[in-house]
Amino acid sequence: MRRAGRVVAEMLDRISAAVRPGVTTAELDAVGRAVLADRGATSNFLGYHGFPAVICASPNEVIVHGIPGPRVLEEGDIISIDCGAIVDGWHGDAAVTVGVGTIDAESRRLIDTAEAALAAGIAELVDGGRLGNVGEAVQRVGESAGFSVVEEYTGHAIGQAMHESPAVPNFGRRGSGAKLKVGNAYAIEPMFCAGSAETRTLTDNWTVVTLDGRRAAHVEHSIAITDDGPEILTLP
Ligand code: MG
Ligand code: MG
Repeated sequence: MRRAGRVVAEMLDRISAAVRPGVTTAELDAVGRAVLADRGATSNFLGYHGFPAVICASPNEVIVHGIPGPRVLEEGDIISIDCGAIVDGWHGDAAVTVGVGTIDAESRRLIDTAEAALAAGIAELVDGGRLGNVGEAVQRVGESAGFSVVEEYTGHAIGQAMHESPAVPNFGRRGSGAKLKVGNAYAIEPMFCAGSAETRTLTDNWTVVTLDGRRAAHVEHSIAITDDGPEILTLP
């Protein structure tokens, strides 16, 4: 899983570096495909329930599951890039939200808050903890910053499949949920909205957008629980 995670991290680094005004989301997908080929890894996104790409590209009002295509990124946009990799049967999964050129202050704060919530959730991944502590931490950071928390989509356990049970909601109650043990691995993925967290799925049956059209941010890491605490697997 460390090897798969490093491939995912490299994909996100190379794709983030390619984000600029004028680039299409299909071009970003091509960058991801090149990294997978370079590293001899395969995609856990391509073909997943028929998904046609190796990344999800979700600009502005798109929360998650945007399909890469001809959409051209513009100065001031934000975009979530979500991707994964399989190495020797083990999975990695991570996401970042980045700005395109200069972004407005609220968008910056939305992204920074999602990253802070992810860090707070990761800190709860300790032996003997509970999964509800993760959700509570993520929710607290998001809502105390004035943002809303998407409830229909969640993180998940991860291992020899990308999406394993249990789900990891971005909300919860301390002391509730599955007990955490050394050797477990989870993908935590806060999704916060500037406005309402009500969602709508477009007619492509993938793209999830905010109902009110306001912006959303989504970030994710895959993390293993070790004797020394949480180990983020999807770092370079
Ligand atoms: Mg993901
Ligand atoms: Mg995930």
